Amino acid sequence: MSKSPDLTKVKMTFYPMVGSVEKQFQNLLDTLSWVDENKPTPKQVYEWLRAKYQLSHYFARDIYTVLFISSGLVTVKNEKCCLTTDGKVVLETSSPFMLLEVFEKSFAGVAGFLEILRSKPQINSTELIGAWYDLVKDRFPKMQGWSRKTLNNQSRHRIDWLRTMEFMKIENGLFSLTESGWLFVLEHPPELIAIQKHEIKEQEKLLQEFALDEFKPFETTNKIDSLRKTFARDRAFRAIVTSQYEYYCAVCGIKLPTPRGVYLAEAAHIIPKHSEGSDDPRNGICLCGNCHWAFDEGVITIKPENLTVVTASYLQKTRTDISIQKITKYNGKEIRSVINSNYSPSKIALEWHGEQVFLG
Ligand SMILES: [Zn+2]
Repeated sequence: MSKSPDLTKVKMTFYPMVGSVEKQFQNLLDTLSWVDENKPTPKQVYEWLRAKYQLSHYFARDIYTVLFISSGLVTVKNEKCCLTTDGKVVLETSSPFMLLEVFEKSFAGVAGFLEILRSKPQINSTELIGAWYDLVKDRFPKMQGWSRKTLNNQSRHRIDWLRTMEFMKIENGLFSLTESGWLFVLEHPPELIAIQKHEIKEQEKLLQEFALDEFKPFETTNKIDSLRKTFARDRAFRAIVTSQYEYYCAVCGIKLPTPRGVYLAEAAHIIPKHSEGSDDPRNGICLCGNCHWAFDEGVITIKPENLTVVTASYLQKTRTDISIQKITKYNGKEIRSVINSNYSPSKIALEWHGEQVFLG
C-alpha cells in the first residue's frame, strides 16, 4: 500500500493540462501506459510529466499526487511505480466512466457533483457543497459525522479533481459543467457511477420479497422514485437473475467469463421494460447477447407449459442458412433451470411474450 499523501497541502488552482475530458483522459492513459511499461521511480514520473506536458515542478507534483497516488491507479512497490488492479482496468478499458468508478473508491461521491450540476447549471460554492452533501450522505453513511471543516476540505478535493479533468469549471464564482462535462453526463448518467453494495442489496431484498408474493407482471404497482434507485434495482435484478442460472445462457448454454470477473450474461425481461414489465425476478431470464436479441425481437419464445424454446416459423424457409441453423437447432430444447425454483420464469409473463412479442 502506498502512503496516502496529505491532500490538504495540494492546492490546484490552475491546471496546465487543460483540455476536454477526452483530452485529459488521453493524457492520463498515456501516463498510465508509460508507467506500466517503464516501472519508473516516483521522481521519474513527475520528471516525465514535467517534460511531456511542459509543467512546472509544483504542478507536475500536484498532478502526480492527485491523479496517480490518491486516485488509487498507481502504487509504489520497492520504490518503483506500477499500476494497481484498478489502474490496469482503466488502462485496458480506456473508459472515463471506469475512471470515475475507480476514483470514487478514494473520493466517495465525486460523481455526485455531476448530478447536481446537471440539474442546477449555475450554482455558487456554498449551494453546491450543501446540495452535494444532502445527495451523498445516505449513499456513504461514513460521511454523516463530517464536521463543517471536513466537508469543506473533502468537497474541495473532489471539485479540484473534477476541474483538473475539465468536467466542471468556475466562472464569476459560479460552478457549471464544461461542454465536455455535459457531453459526458449525457452519455453516462452520473447516478450510475459507484452504486454502493448496500444500495444494491436493499433492492435485492425487495425483489426477493416480490418473488415470495403473487406474481405481478407489470411495474405500475412497484414504481420507484429516483434514477439512482432505478439503476440499483437494475443491478439487483441482473444479479439475482444471472446468478440463478449460474451465468449460463438459458437457451444456448454459453457461459463466458472475463479475467476481471464479468460474464457474457444478461438478465432479459420477459415482459420488456418499455411495456412496463416488472422487475420481479420471475419476469427475468438469463440470456447471452445473441439470444437476448432474438428473444426481444420475437425470433424465439419459451413455451410456458414445458419451458422449451420455440423458434419463429419464418426461419423454416431459410433453414439451410448457417446462421439461421445456429438458432433453429434450439427449437424444442428445454431451457436451463434455475437454482431455486421460486425464481422460475413466470408462466403469465411467458404467455404474454408468446402473444405480444413472438413472431409466431
Ligand atoms: Zn445464448
